[in-house]
Amino acid sequence: AVIPVAIAGAPYDVVIEEGALARAGALCRPFLRKDTVAVVTDENVAGAWRETVAASFAAQGIASHWLVLPAGEATKSWENLARVVDWLLHLEVERKDNIVALGGGVIGDLTGFAASMVKRGCGFIQMPTTLLAQVDSSVGGKTAINTPVGKNLVGAFHQPSLVLADPLSLDTLPLRDVRAGYAEVVKYGLIDDPEFFFWCEANAQCLLAGEADAREHAIARSVAAKARIVAADEKETTGVRALLNLGHTFGHALEAQCGFSDRLLHGEGVALGMILAARYSARLGLMHGQDAERVAAHIAAVGLPASLKALDIDCDGQTLKNHMLHDKKMDAGTLPFLLMRGLGQTFLAKDVDLADVAAFLDEELAR
Ligand code: NAD
Ligand code: ZN
Repeated sequence: AVIPVAIAGAPYDVVIEEGALARAGALCRPFLRKDTVAVVTDENVAGAWRETVAASFAAQGIASHWLVLPAGEATKSWENLARVVDWLLHLEVERKDNIVALGGGVIGDLTGFAASMVKRGCGFIQMPTTLLAQVDSSVGGKTAINTPVGKNLVGAFHQPSLVLADPLSLDTLPLRDVRAGYAEVVKYGLIDDPEFFFWCEANAQCLLAGEADAREHAIARSVAAKARIVAADEKETTGVRALLNLGHTFGHALEAQCGFSDRLLHGEGVALGMILAARYSARLGLMHGQDAERVAAHIAAVGLPASLKALDIDCDGQTLKNHMLHDKKMDAGTLPFLLMRGLGQTFLAKDVDLADVAAFLDEELAR
């Protein structure tokens, strides 16, 4: 599938295709002006996919230069940003060149941010190799690094020239990361596409087992949803793009409580966060309790964490509420809360009572 992303002034395609990495050279050829290309990746991805991608460039007469960074969230740092930028400058990358980010959201965010500043903004191609990156981070142009103060606090909007998503890359991805990325897939169904949520309920097991059709459909439908939302609100000014934060306010608080460590992956936090958003919506009488439990049942069925108690985080609702107050989505003293009127009917709620949220979280922690 090819999904166009209709950003005004910077439109691009997302190519979702089994074998796209093995054909990367040919697919990128129209975007490269020289016979060399710079590729940034991490150790794990290099181990699994470097040979394939390098060979596909070589077959087009393109020599690839590689910068292989350590794997992990800590790589999104000032130090590595400088390292990537300096490396690109030494390679004499020009503004109209396209550099390549091959990896998950960490490599995509860091490399995209570096591209946004090299020669005041050079081109870049995303080759996302995690499900999370394929359905979410590689599309939409948000790039960032972390600082000691918090995650993703420094960055830029910088759209890629092309996104190549190869479902085969998920064959080498640990199942835990596949599941975590799947939480973002479910998110698109819950935002505004109930039919897709029902499709997820029926097809999640095939998808997680690596069945080609299910995987491609899930990625394409998710990318189409993200493309539609970011084209409507590129820089998150009208509130449409905020819908993508469903489950993320609760999720962020849980991630913070776990110290943003491997104890709780981002997607796992989002999965729990969507359950909490659904249950809190039911508590406010906005949505049927049975629909909220349907969300929880699906999250549990795919093996994602579905209960706060099982997380074994030693804290109370007040502590989680305080984490929310440090969320970067905080806007002039209020938090944009995404709540649901039903499955696939998410909306931006304005005056949510945080004391009530804390009481709700105490109940959930004891549940
Ligand atoms: P990641 O990039 O750390 O990848 C997860 C792990 O999988 C890493 O250990 C990586 O080395 C490994 N890996 C990646 N692809 C592999 C493959 N094909 N085979 C084997 N191993 C592979 O994490 P992620 O979950 O992809 O992304 C998380 C990051 O994305 C966070 O930093 C988050 O802030 C960011 N993010 C950005 C946006 C955005 O809009 N820019 C949206 C969501 C998340
Ligand atoms: Zn997310």
